[in-house]
Amino acid sequence: MKECCQFASELLSSVFQFPFGRRLPCDIYWHGVSFHDNYIFSGQVNKFPGMTEMVRKVTLSRAVRTMQDLFPVEYNFYPRSWILPEEFPLFVTEVRMMKESDPSWKPTFIVKPDGGCQGDGIYLIKDPNDVRLAGSVQSRPAVVQEYICKPLLVDKLKFDIRLYVLLKSLEPLEIYIAKDGLSRFCTEPYQEPTLKNLHQVFMHLTNYSLNIHSGNFIHSDNVNTGSKRTFSSILCRLSSRGADVKKVWSDIISLVIKTIIALTPELKVYYQSDIPAGKPGPTCFQILGFDILLMKNLKPMLLEVNANPSMRIEHEQELSPGVFENVPSPVDEEVKVAVIRDTLRLVDPQKKRRKEIQSQTSEHVSETREDLLDAGPADGPEYETSKNTEAGLPSLCLKQVFPKYAKQFNYLRLVDRVAALFIRFLGVKGTTKLGPTGFRTFIRNCKLSNSNFSMASVDILYIDITRRWNSMGIDHKESGMCLQAFVEAFFCLAQKKYKSLPLHEQVASLIDFCEYHLAALDEKRLLCGRGVVERRGAVKANLVTLG
Ligand code: ADP
Repeated sequence: MKECCQFASELLSSVFQFPFGRRLPCDIYWHGVSFHDNYIFSGQVNKFPGMTEMVRKVTLSRAVRTMQDLFPVEYNFYPRSWILPEEFPLFVTEVRMMKESDPSWKPTFIVKPDGGCQGDGIYLIKDPNDVRLAGSVQSRPAVVQEYICKPLLVDKLKFDIRLYVLLKSLEPLEIYIAKDGLSRFCTEPYQEPTLKNLHQVFMHLTNYSLNIHSGNFIHSDNVNTGSKRTFSSILCRLSSRGADVKKVWSDIISLVIKTIIALTPELKVYYQSDIPAGKPGPTCFQILGFDILLMKNLKPMLLEVNANPSMRIEHEQELSPGVFENVPSPVDEEVKVAVIRDTLRLVDPQKKRRKEIQSQTSEHVSETREDLLDAGPADGPEYETSKNTEAGLPSLCLKQVFPKYAKQFNYLRLVDRVAALFIRFLGVKGTTKLGPTGFRTFIRNCKLSNSNFSMASVDILYIDITRRWNSMGIDHKESGMCLQAFVEAFFCLAQKKYKSLPLHEQVASLIDFCEYHLAALDEKRLLCGRGVVERRGAVKANLVTLG
């Protein structure tokens, strides 16, 4: 996760670097860390505002938790997690209750400091009371998570998968997944956690940056041996053992789409704040690194998402004591060069222009396939249109999965619709938090207040929830209600109004209700506006006649 963007030499030769900025606008900007690296007003930039914040361990866990509340089965690919320090009492109580109901359950937990990377500060515990609360946790939030005790092993070693995902656009949502990824191996044979081996990081943590310090680390000189291999080489091995690798891929694609669906509502709030509609600004895309663990039963589990995945294609080698040299890493090169090359192909502004010309001349555009998820080649419309113009280049390694599979996943996008309501009532552009007046207007315009729910109760709801979220110390820069607090208030209102339904149906019904009233209001305003224009026109005509 160390932010090291070292491009393949072949790409650097055709890309200009302007470390001190440039006055003339560029088509594509490649920032090293975040959207805010430089002020830009046009073109495309490789970072979304707010992405770094969204994929931090605590924020990601919260976003996935909201989706787990709505769709527990669909979101069971993320280990059960608690946010420290505020959920420490809940963690202790829930674990005690689960143990009481199933005495054979002997869990292990992994504690991860928020904002940490490369395994920094991570440790395993058996007993919730072993969380190191003293000092550090108070000052440094963390996530404590159920440890996945039965990972899939290859050569008796635990490994995880790093997959590269291109979020090409937020609105409309466009997601691509690289057809190959990296598998990063532990360097000590795996054993299920016991009090004795809990501290053995080379056995339990797959981080490259940790394992490279183990005497057992093997630099891979080809893609299917050593401590870092391609994911496709692992799939080949699994397939030869008779595993259903198509199912593994379709589960991974589904995990990626669902995770991004969990992240988009807040990303949209950040986006409208940094790039207000109607004002000049860039469009964004971003390469994300998904870290995934395969369980013994081949179910993929999400570990984390990286906003700045390492794009290094070299590794350091110690030639003699204390003398290091960068040497090429064939595995990294195989996977990463293709990801960057294809990202640039997909966001290429020339391509967009060519596409427009092509669509004017050709009547028939090949239709997006809506069949079951498969692990075939990238065969979406992007590939079709680029085939002729990019002859000579390898076929795309990035496979479009959204909107290709939109039909299967759109029902999950409820919080996106709640975020659209939130953004509508934010009022002044450039903010990310809703003031009390905005919240009242939302209640009034959506006709949510009645004799059972007075405007005084609305104010109490606003104050209660906003105060609690702001006391969690997430963002003190602005006062007011953040999106998560609004979502909580919205769920409360939905539960109140549609008592007997399951939560996702309650929320969906309330969204329909609000959208219906807001559409009616917009129509009324439009008619009124038209009426005013017509009346003005009539008055003017009368004046002319009289004159
Ligand atoms: P970091 O950002 O520090 O790398 P991760 O969340 O990726 O933090 O965790 C580090 C490593 O710990 C992972 O690469 C994985 O090997 C292991 N790990 C993390 N979470 C779990 C879990 N819930 N179950 C089993 N192993 C885990």
